[in-house]
Amino acid sequence: MSSMKFPVKVYIEPGAIEKVFEVIKDRRNILMLTGKNVYDILAKKFEEKLKNSFEVTTFFVERSSVDEVKRIVVNTSYSDFEVVLGFGGGKVIDVAKVTATELNVPFISIPTSASHDGIASPVASFKENGKPISISTNPPSAVLADVKILIKSPRRLMNSGFGDLISNITAVKDWQLAKEKVNENYNEVAASISSMPAELMLKKAEELDFNIPSHVKLLVQGLIMSGVAMAIVGSSRPASGSEHKFSHAVDYLGYGFGLHGEQVGIGTIIMEYFYEKVYGIGEWEKVKRAFEKIGSPSSAREIGLNKEQILEALVFAKRIRRKRYTILEDLNPSKDDFEKAIKETKIV
Ligand SMILES: [Zn+2]
Repeated sequence: MSSMKFPVKVYIEPGAIEKVFEVIKDRRNILMLTGKNVYDILAKKFEEKLKNSFEVTTFFVERSSVDEVKRIVVNTSYSDFEVVLGFGGGKVIDVAKVTATELNVPFISIPTSASHDGIASPVASFKENGKPISISTNPPSAVLADVKILIKSPRRLMNSGFGDLISNITAVKDWQLAKEKVNENYNEVAASISSMPAELMLKKAEELDFNIPSHVKLLVQGLIMSGVAMAIVGSSRPASGSEHKFSHAVDYLGYGFGLHGEQVGIGTIIMEYFYEKVYGIGEWEKVKRAFEKIGSPSSAREIGLNKEQILEALVFAKRIRRKRYTILEDLNPSKDDFEKAIKETKIV
């Protein structure tokens, strides 16, 4: 059995950022990766504080790519960093994750938005030549999710995080399907850790309000647990199924302007429709209503996709990551089936 790595320290509370001193402890030499905007608003002050106790080198992340990691590693070579801090949005966290893995030092995740489950996952999403790729990394050693900071993040980002969390419901159904149909390894604990917070959020959607700190905390807990579920099995399987294949297809084709969580949200509605129709266990109407309620896109049009594009993306999704058995592999829906799904879910 291989050794498992998890976020050992997780703080989700107002002022969580102050825990950094406790978390870093006896390490002295810090590489802080951040974004220019985050630096001006938050990280500059934080850096000043850190500098009282540590040696800090700050680097601005501009894009999420392998070249960016190389640029950072080359520019800071021979610095003997003992820890990497990623303070920012998804791009910064992803680059920091890969950089820390590359330097073989612990990574501390300080997210300024909760737009997807990457804040604690062992996977980074990069774009290379305009095409999406995933890179396996070590999970963060610590996550400092400061609710005071996160609550001020744009609502659209938080809603997108909600979509990414809800998608776990479909991802776990796909995983169960793979267990039953093709005898894939299945981990009940990882599956529950991934799907339970998602089910809870779905149930709570009617009363959900991301102006309330405890609701933000619930969302962030769910997203961090997605990351933990992935770390348990060493793959994105517990939080990425057919609905993510659809989102990857949209990215690959370069259609629309949806955020990751918005795209997987639309994918979840469609795949849940198939689960409902074929197995009687789909929750597409509930999911769609939840998105409407919180003000997240519940139709493809809202993320800039027309009917032809969504149809093309669904057909294309069948070609993505074929080894990952999902309802797309199980049913192998035809173009007509997809058209019917689009019509019946009124997804356009
Ligand atoms: Zn995702």
